[in-house]
Amino acid sequence: MKSNYLRVSLFFLAYLLISAVLFFYFDMDKKNRISVYLNQQIEKLSSEFKATKNAYEKLSNFVYDQLSNDKDFLAVLSSNQKDQIYNYLLPYYKILKRYNIHYLTIQKPDGTVVINMHKPYKKEKKTKQDLFSTEKSSGKIVMEFTKPIYIKGKLLVFFKTAISYNTLKKELQRLFRGKYEYILNNSLITKNVFNYGNYLFIQSDLHPKFYYEENSAKERASKERELIHKINLSIKEKVKQRLSQGKNFAVLTEVDGKYYIVTFLAINSSGYNIGYLISYKQDDMAAAFDMLFLQNIIFSNILIIILLAFIYYFFQTKFKFEEMAVIDKLTKLYNRHKFYEIAEQEMVRSKRHNRPFSLVLFDIDHFKQINDTYGHDVGDYVLATMAKIIKDKIRKYDYIFRWGGEEFIILAPETELKNAHKLAEKIRKLVEEHSFDKVGKVTISLGAAQFYPDSDKDIDQVIKRADTALYQSKREGRNRTTILF
Ligand code: GH3
Ligand code: MG
Ligand code: MG
Repeated sequence: MKSNYLRVSLFFLAYLLISAVLFFYFDMDKKNRISVYLNQQIEKLSSEFKATKNAYEKLSNFVYDQLSNDKDFLAVLSSNQKDQIYNYLLPYYKILKRYNIHYLTIQKPDGTVVINMHKPYKKEKKTKQDLFSTEKSSGKIVMEFTKPIYIKGKLLVFFKTAISYNTLKKELQRLFRGKYEYILNNSLITKNVFNYGNYLFIQSDLHPKFYYEENSAKERASKERELIHKINLSIKEKVKQRLSQGKNFAVLTEVDGKYYIVTFLAINSSGYNIGYLISYKQDDMAAAFDMLFLQNIIFSNILIIILLAFIYYFFQTKFKFEEMAVIDKLTKLYNRHKFYEIAEQEMVRSKRHNRPFSLVLFDIDHFKQINDTYGHDVGDYVLATMAKIIKDKIRKYDYIFRWGGEEFIILAPETELKNAHKLAEKIRKLVEEHSFDKVGKVTISLGAAQFYPDSDKDIDQVIKRADTALYQSKREGRNRTTILF
């Protein structure tokens, strides 16, 4: 019973251990999968960005090719007449503008701006004046294409076109769906930018160092902006460190029960981080990874349980068979085989601590008569009953065995012959006083002997003395105990 409890506990412990190891393994696997997936998302955003940029660059190059090979334009450029240059560039600028390139600049090699054309901002008057200025481009520019213009092999000016991040954002949204945002390093935001009409720069939820542009109050109040705000707050701590590293990265987050992948593409210019293009995308893959993790855990646990149950059953059966080999079917007592096993242990113990133990051998008187008179079944009943009443009476650490036929033997540890005699008499009286069904009174004859650790070589010597004593009891009239020193 006790060993069974121990066995169950052991198996439960093994189960917990294996299941914990598997949990960590599958958790690690999930994290790896997510990490690989996030890297794919970075690649994707990077490709989207490059593809968009490529398209703009081609248009920009086309205009540049036209102008740099146009002798009339080169002549006007050389004249340095701003109005004339402006008039010449206007049709080209209109084409560029139609395809979202809103900035066109001609700049001298020393950095001075010859002409700067850009889309007029709201609220500003759409005068000719607004369309060209000599300001330096601000942080609002996210892509800039620069090409040199030569006259007779000499570098005259740089032809520059640029796209605002707002344009890029809209274009990316149109082409690839999802929500794109651009956050700008605050060191790039000049006072000028803040003052541009309705354009507002607002500190990002993600990091105090970064700002994003908001075009209108309507946008600020939109559901989309609200969701982004929530997502940003959920990842704020995670991205804090990484934002200052100027490298691409992506994070996974859960907001209102939905998974979002937020991918950060670092926009760097000559080694300096201008800001990040951020893509917010709702993503079901993460939920699939969670599902896979759950499935793995469930299936592995079922498997472990089945396996452990199988092992448990196997051992249980094995133990049962082993028990069966040493237990007598009729009396449920240990058999002679087990007697020798225990006697061996007792002898070792007895010799080591110089402590005695005794054997009491007994045999039912005239058992043959019982069999003959009442039948074999009644004989069996007497044997089983006797085993039970004696077993219930002896001390817990005394052993009783069926020695064979109608003979039994008791091994009493820590018991010298004098006390073995008392034990034997106790048993004899117990049997004598018991009334067996049908049969009535039954008696036994007993013989007791002690194991002497100094002189006894093996257990058989002790058994021999007990047997001789038992024989003497029989000879002297039965229903008695004889002891032999
Ligand atoms: P005593 O010991 O007093 O000299 O006489 P006894 O009749 O007991 O003598 P004996 O040892 O010759 O007989 C033992 C009998 O016990 C013989 C055998 O048939 C019977 N016997 C042995 N094992 C069993 C058993 O498992 N069941 C039954 N019913 N009888 C058994
Ligand atoms: Mg006998
Ligand atoms: Mg007998």
